[in-house]
Parts: sequence; structure tokens; C-alpha cells
Amino acid sequence: MSGVNEIRSAFLDYFKRNGHEVVASSPLVPRNDPTLMFTNAGMVQFKNVFTGLEQRPYSTAVSSQKCVRAGGKHNDLDNVGYTARHHTFFEMLGNFSFGDYFKDRAIELAWDLITREFGIDKDRLLVTVYHTDDEAYDLWRKIAGLPEDRIIRIATSDNFWAMGDTGPCGPCSEIFYDHGDHIWGGPPGSAEEDGDRFIEIWNLVFMQFEQVSAGERNALPRPSIDTGMGLERIAALLQGKHDNYDIDLFVRLIAASVEATGVPADDQHRASHRVIADHLRSAAFLIADGVLPSNEGRGYVLRRIMRRAMRHAQLLGARDPLMYRLLPVLIAEMGRAYPELGRAESLISETLKLEETRFRKTLERGLGLLEEASGSLGEGDRLSGDVAFKLYDTYGFPLDLTQDALRQRGVEVDVSGFKEAMERQKAEARANWSGSGDAATDAIWFGLRDRLGATEFLGYDSETAEGVI
Ligand code: ATP
Ligand code: MG
Ligand code: MG
Ligand code: MG
Repeated sequence: MSGVNEIRSAFLDYFKRNGHEVVASSPLVPRNDPTLMFTNAGMVQFKNVFTGLEQRPYSTAVSSQKCVRAGGKHNDLDNVGYTARHHTFFEMLGNFSFGDYFKDRAIELAWDLITREFGIDKDRLLVTVYHTDDEAYDLWRKIAGLPEDRIIRIATSDNFWAMGDTGPCGPCSEIFYDHGDHIWGGPPGSAEEDGDRFIEIWNLVFMQFEQVSAGERNALPRPSIDTGMGLERIAALLQGKHDNYDIDLFVRLIAASVEATGVPADDQHRASHRVIADHLRSAAFLIADGVLPSNEGRGYVLRRIMRRAMRHAQLLGARDPLMYRLLPVLIAEMGRAYPELGRAESLISETLKLEETRFRKTLERGLGLLEEASGSLGEGDRLSGDVAFKLYDTYGFPLDLTQDALRQRGVEVDVSGFKEAMERQKAEARANWSGSGDAATDAIWFGLRDRLGATEFLGYDSETAEGVI
């Protein structure tokens, strides 16, 4: 059985042998894209190479990219602990062709790697293609010999990738693994596709057009390839597991959490241990890349991740800061592949400890209030927006923490009521402000208040890290 570290190396090595330049992961804070909250795919660092703005001394590349999907368009925060396949931090393995090879070679390489090198059972694999992409359909028939009923045509944007409103775009083809009918879920395109029976492992993007304007799309003279496969998902397959959280790396992180809390990862507590292990990874990697907890933008996403994990630590009965105690295990597992973790160890450790120490008191008091306000609520009920806002404003509870706390009981939060309460408070602050008599000071004060208030909340649904309002 290969561990995560060997699987990463095997992937990089396979593409290196096939002529690809091995390129290191770029940081989680994108250097070339202020509109993106965090790096969320392997192609992010190559955007300008795909569009032709930047030249590199190689035309094919391979990488294992650190990704965070916890804010903006791709937000998997709510999935963590509840699906078998989502993390907030994960590694995306990818091979890229910048106007070099195209569909046939991309399919050939992917199929050869997973079925021959990795030895995955062909009969368990199925693929999707964009509904009009006959070329890809025929290549899967020819190269992989897949029967027609295991090549599924999909007409949605799931199988058509675009960099933005304009720029390179094209159909994509995804490879799925069927874990068997003992697990709930249906094939891609079916009503049960969100289940965990058919798990998507690899997305092959065929960049063959350029969207010039809303109505105009041209064929690219030299089409390109961008692929992404979740390291943790392929590791699960290679380790004979269904669930990403059962791979070697997570087994060790969760064991550390079990040991530190003295609470087993049984049915009642499994989700909490998973959330802690997952959020420890994203928090540690974000801090190592220069993000610190704050009340706006990227820093607020980090704070939300950390506080959410702390509530789960609290659920496990931890009375003292927990996360920083698990850090050495993470560094032992991942520090060789990502030396920045070791270099930033004391910063990460201190930041985790400080945030946990500060939040502990208000966490306990806030949970008391939450219990009081929601004790009588059950499945289908909603917590008032005013209570959620008080938890946010007075006790520092990010909205998603409150939502997560109520989730198991099927209770929702009145989100529009929450937003209204926030707006009301801002209006009151304005009305109560008697003024300093100095127009310039007033402008600064309100500017700050608006910025801190508004951008904190924007962290939930805005793609941009910097405040928009
Ligand atoms: P899913 O439908 O399972 O949420 P996706 O279609 O959003 O995945 P892509 O954007 O196509 O994922 O990313 C490429 C690959 O990265 C996926 O095929 C998967 O292997 C991996 N991946 C995506 N999101 C996550 C995540 N949150 N945690 C772990 N791996 C992920
Ligand atoms: Mg997704
Ligand atoms: Mg998908
Ligand atoms: Mg996908």
C-alpha cells in the first residue's frame, strides 16, 4: 500500500518520464489574480501561460498544487465532515499542455496512469463528456475501450469549463469511480449524483476555444490541456478505501486528535475529529502562506475555519487549546513535501494557540446562549436572525459556525433576518453618532465601520478577498 507521499511522487514522476516539467506548487494566496480569494486549482499559477501573456521555457508541466476551497465560488466548507470526498485544503495533481498535446494524448496519459501504473480496476471506472464533444466520446471508446453505457454525455456547465466571462474555455471530461451499490449515490447526471457512490477523481479540461465576447467564440489555434485530480481521492482508491478520511494521512491526524481529547472517533464524534483534522490542514497552510486571522477578507475566512474547528474541539470536551498540539503530526506527515510548514511552525503554533485562547470564553458563553435560544427548536425550524446576529456581534460566532452547530438537529438559521439585523445595527450606529464636529474624522470613522462590518460578512459569498462594498 502506498502512502500519500509516495502517490504524489508517483504522479509527478510519471509525467516527468513523459516529458513534463515538474513545477512546484504556488502559494495559496494567488500572486497574479487579485480577484481570487485562494488558489483553488492547479491551473491558477498558469493562467497567463494559457492566455499567451506569459512564456515559459517548457510546453508541458506537472504539479501538485495546494488548494483551498473555503470561500468564494468554490466553497466546500459545509461539506467537510459530512461527505467522503471533500476537504477545505487538498492537493490537486495536474498535468498541463500549453498548446502542445491535446485530447488524444491527455486521455491516453490519464487512462494509462490510473489503469496500468496505478492498477485501478477498469470495470469500476466511468467517464463523462460534454454532450456535443463527439471527439472525446470517440477517443474514450478507442483508447480506453469503454462501453457506451459508461461514457455519459452531460449538457451542464459541470462539463464545460471557462476561465471567466471571456478567455480560454472548452469542454471537459471527468473520470469517476464506482464504489459499489452498498453506498448511496447515482452516476453523474442522475438525481442522486451528489451521493458518495460514484466519486469524481479526475477532471480533464480541453481548452479549445476563446470566448471573445458574450456571443462570440473562436477556435484556439493551439488548444491546451489542464487537468486536476484530488490526491486524497486517488489515495483512497489506491489504499482500498471509500472515504478520503480513511487514508494514511488522515488516519494519523485523527489518531492524534483522539489521543489529545481522549474521545474515540465513533459514530457520534467522527465528524468532529474529521473537521478538526481538515481545518488544521487549511489553517496551518494558510498561515504558512502569510494569511493571519482577521475580521476581513482572507483573514476572516481563516478565522471562520479556525473557530469552526474550535467548536468541534469543544464538542469533544477539550477545555484547553487543542489545534496547536496536533501541528507536529501534520508537519511530520507533510513537512517534507511542503517545507514552508516547518519553517513557519512557531508562527502557526502561536497563532493557533492565541486564537483558541481568545475565543474560548466567548465560545462557551455563546454556546450557552445558542442552547437557550434553540433548545425548543427541532427539524425544519429556524433560529431567528437576531440571535444569530447577537452570536456574531457579541460572541464572535461566524454565521457558518452557528449554522454548523444547528445542522445535526435539522435547524436552519434565518439568514436574511441575520443580514437585516446587521444592517439595522449599522444604521443605528450612524444615528447615534453625535459627531466629533470634525467632518474628516467622521468620514474616517464611518468608513472603517462600514469596511469592517461589510467585508466581514462578504467573506461568505464574495469571490474577492478585498472588500467590495
Ligand atoms: P466535486 O464535484 O466532487 O465537488 P469538483 O467537480 O468540484 O468536485 P473540480 O473543480 O473538477 O472538482 O476539481 C478537480 C478535482 O479536484 C476533482 O476531480 C477532485 O478529485 C478534486 N477536488 C475538488 N474539490 C475537492 C475537495 N473539496 N476536496 C478534495 N478534493 C477535491
Ligand atoms: Mg465541488
Ligand atoms: Mg464535480
Ligand atoms: Mg469536476
